[in-house]
Amino acid sequence: MNGNLFSYIQDHTRDASSVALDDTNGRICTYGDLLGLSGQIANVLVERGVRPGDRVMVQVEKSVMAVCLYLATLRAGAVFLPLNTAYTHYEVEYFVRDAEPALLICDPSHEQALSQIAGRVGARIDTLAADESGSLFEAASVASPTFPTIIRQPDDLAAILYTSGTTGRSKGAMLTHANLLSNALTLVEAWKFTKRDILIHALPIYHTHGLFVAINVSLLSGAAIKFLRKFEPDLIIELMKEATVLMGVPTFYVRLLQSPQLDNTWSGMRLFISGSAPLLAETHAEWQRRTGHAILERYGMTETNMNTSNPYDGERVAGTVGLALPGVSVRISNPDDGTPLGIDEIGMIEVKGPNVFAGYWRLPEKTAAEMRPDGFFITGDLGKIDQRGYLHILGRGKDLVITGGFNVYPKEIEEEIDALPGVVESAIIGLPHPDFGEGVTAVVVRSPGVNIGEDDILVAIHNRLARYKLPKRILFIEALPRNTMGKVQKNVLRDNFKDLYLHPAVG
Ligand code: AMP
Repeated sequence: MNGNLFSYIQDHTRDASSVALDDTNGRICTYGDLLGLSGQIANVLVERGVRPGDRVMVQVEKSVMAVCLYLATLRAGAVFLPLNTAYTHYEVEYFVRDAEPALLICDPSHEQALSQIAGRVGARIDTLAADESGSLFEAASVASPTFPTIIRQPDDLAAILYTSGTTGRSKGAMLTHANLLSNALTLVEAWKFTKRDILIHALPIYHTHGLFVAINVSLLSGAAIKFLRKFEPDLIIELMKEATVLMGVPTFYVRLLQSPQLDNTWSGMRLFISGSAPLLAETHAEWQRRTGHAILERYGMTETNMNTSNPYDGERVAGTVGLALPGVSVRISNPDDGTPLGIDEIGMIEVKGPNVFAGYWRLPEKTAAEMRPDGFFITGDLGKIDQRGYLHILGRGKDLVITGGFNVYPKEIEEEIDALPGVVESAIIGLPHPDFGEGVTAVVVRSPGVNIGEDDILVAIHNRLARYKLPKRILFIEALPRNTMGKVQKNVLRDNFKDLYLHPAVG
């Protein structure tokens, strides 16, 4: 029995003529095409020296061919490692050094800069552009489409997705074939996916939501995907006439609600799913009022895949992330000593199940620090479970900022700002923002007599950090508030500046 996730997906390639991916710009890929193209690319990977267990690092634009590359990596028994396309070369260098990939695949426009970086760890480099040009596609187009999928054990690694903590640089979350397969099959069942479904996909594919939740669930049910390069509200509303499901981050729903075209444009849509950040109860209510559909909110994270979901048939309760998924255990514990807490008591959310990752890449101590002895993973999110078993997320223990569905880890930005001459120290906080959910905000203490300004700091860091991480505002104060243990009290800062983006005149 092959535990390779691809061999399960392959079952659906028997229906070779049905559409798997349609980029709505004329590029249509059937399940038969997926099999052939992924076979061709897998042959190229092997030709380039990629062996089972090797990392294939990928920083490419969203495209049908990028999905084929993901599937090809699975087929070759290698470990897929996608990177956010917004990462700068400086950031990519960190990931290359940490993960030591055998092959780095990037957009042709980055080849020159990244080939030097790849060379430092002996990685080869190939290119793939959204228009399907580049050395990878050229080689694949003359390769054989036949490729026997490499046998993998369920616990072998399928992917590494980089996440981060507040205390350091990004960590690679190691996900096994069994993690991805079990979670996708659970979601197919929970959300009643079938081959008659047509999913609107407007999420990035370097993150667990757009890659594993959206793609694995669709392919394992033989569904079709309308595969959009980016979030385009008008196009999405148009596609709702023929599609059945939308998966999005809360920002999608906020933006779609701004369109007067939203109402009465479709008949076949059966499900709207939201996740990755909190969906405001008022967005949920407004969506229901305008469309008649209750958005189904679910909760997951890179390390655990999906943990909970509001029910398909039962009540979808706004402001909650629903019930534990079948096979997943969720509990609330005292954050200090890990003792279990009861109904409606607020504490740390912990999860256990086949969905939970195999640990952080080359960081056994960090992995151990986030696991309880009985195998529960400490998520870092605070919450409570109510009488009916619905989970409520009440905040993040970690000081993660989630802006427009993207996670921003303060430490990384603070380090860049602190390194600038004239800066004593800084704190990055997320403040309520009407459009992004949270706006990244820097609070900076300057050296006495130095007059470095907001623009000076932004100019100095803008090439070093992905755009979504850049602070929307930089505020200056005399000293950061600290508790007796010397820890910066970010809650005090968040409170002091909470209206910054809501009433722009303040601050
Ligand atoms: P990531 O690893 O990028 O998927 O981010 C995971 C984090 O996103 C979780 O630990 C939560 O803090 C947050 N998150 C995911 N889904 C939800 C949700 N439905 N409501 C609130 N926060 C969420």
